[in-house]
Amino acid sequence: MLYNENLTTERPTFVTHLECGATGERHAADVPHNLSRAGKPLLVRYDLDGVRRTLTKEKLALRPPDLWRYRELLPVRRVRDIVSLGEAMTPLLSLPKMSSKLGGGEILVKDEGRLPTGSFKARGLVMAVSMAKAFGIKHMAMPTNGNAGAALAAYASRAGIKTTIFCPEDTPEVNVSEIGLQGAKVYRVNGLIDDCGKIVAEGKERVGWFDTSTLKEPYRIEGKKTMGLELVEQLGWNVPDVIFYPTGGGTGLIGMWKAFAELEAIGFIGSKRPRMVAVQASGCAPMVRAYDEGVEHAVRWEDSHTIAAGIRVPQAIGDFLILRAVRESGGFAIAVSDEAIAAGLEEVAREEGFLMCPEGAATYAAYKLSLADGRVSHAERVVLFNCATGLKYPLPPIRRTLDRHKPIDYAAL
Ligand SMILES: *Cc1c(COP(=O)(O)O)cnc(C)c1O
Repeated sequence: MLYNENLTTERPTFVTHLECGATGERHAADVPHNLSRAGKPLLVRYDLDGVRRTLTKEKLALRPPDLWRYRELLPVRRVRDIVSLGEAMTPLLSLPKMSSKLGGGEILVKDEGRLPTGSFKARGLVMAVSMAKAFGIKHMAMPTNGNAGAALAAYASRAGIKTTIFCPEDTPEVNVSEIGLQGAKVYRVNGLIDDCGKIVAEGKERVGWFDTSTLKEPYRIEGKKTMGLELVEQLGWNVPDVIFYPTGGGTGLIGMWKAFAELEAIGFIGSKRPRMVAVQASGCAPMVRAYDEGVEHAVRWEDSHTIAAGIRVPQAIGDFLILRAVRESGGFAIAVSDEAIAAGLEEVAREEGFLMCPEGAATYAAYKLSLADGRVSHAERVVLFNCATGLKYPLPPIRRTLDRHKPIDYAAL
């Protein structure tokens, strides 16, 4: 039992306030929030000196291997508000064959497919739903490409909160089904994720749904931040040289960047940062275009299409936060084609026995491309994010059959 520690006790938390990601304006903690008064994402701030005095690496090492081990840097104040489905730490796997084939740089993959509901969306939504429970929120709504909706449905149902979820009409069947089975009212909409987002915003105005859209709710970032905390702890409190992150709304990239700053402030790491690489699909690459043009905000990408549904986000409200992290880190943004994604997925599955999701495979394809064009060197240790289990996606059929009533040529099998 991983999650039994202090289940009935209250514990101190170090949240002091929330801050507008654009203007820095303070907003009060302990009341529900969506966007800041300036209409931008809110970031949760902590008394990091207080955390520094309380938390040690030794204390942390004794805690259960799950996301709640970082409680001092998380927003949930009361243990009884935690709505858990078992958010275990995810393994960091190496791809030794790929790295020797490509010429030597160490490749590590953080395999987020092991989380509840099969994707790293669980990290964000476990936090958002636990906070919603603390605030007494009764009805949450969300636009989704699939994985976020599944995680919201699961945690909200567990907490007894109603959910209404909208996805683009071509969302994979498995995602729509899991969302429905896990207790949500789910609708396919003839549009893209931002079109679904408009319906949620309208429902919020008309009937008071809580809008759980990416970055329109401040606690999903805090959950996603634990990827950065975990990664650094797993590397013995070191950062890797480069992180390749499949970027849709950018919650994880923004969250990890925040995590590294907080870890430095509490004295757990120094000032070295990984270079953050935002990976997108060439059929939907608004961040790459904005990065290349040197601008702070990204314009909507029209006619978005890619097999990597999780990163099919034509417009992200946290665009400036993504671009800022990428630039401050000395990283870059890069797009890969669906063909390269499919080829990478196939290559890693066949040779390493590791079935990545298309978004995860996009990071591998982007790494290959960056090595080839010299943007990443062979001496650098890289971390790729496999953000969901490959089993959630449509897989190619195998048509080979065997007739057991005929003679079998065993040597040919
Ligand atoms: C949501 C999602 C992403 C993008 O994550 P963000 O942090 O929102 O940018 C990537 N891959 C998968 C599988 C996802 O579900």
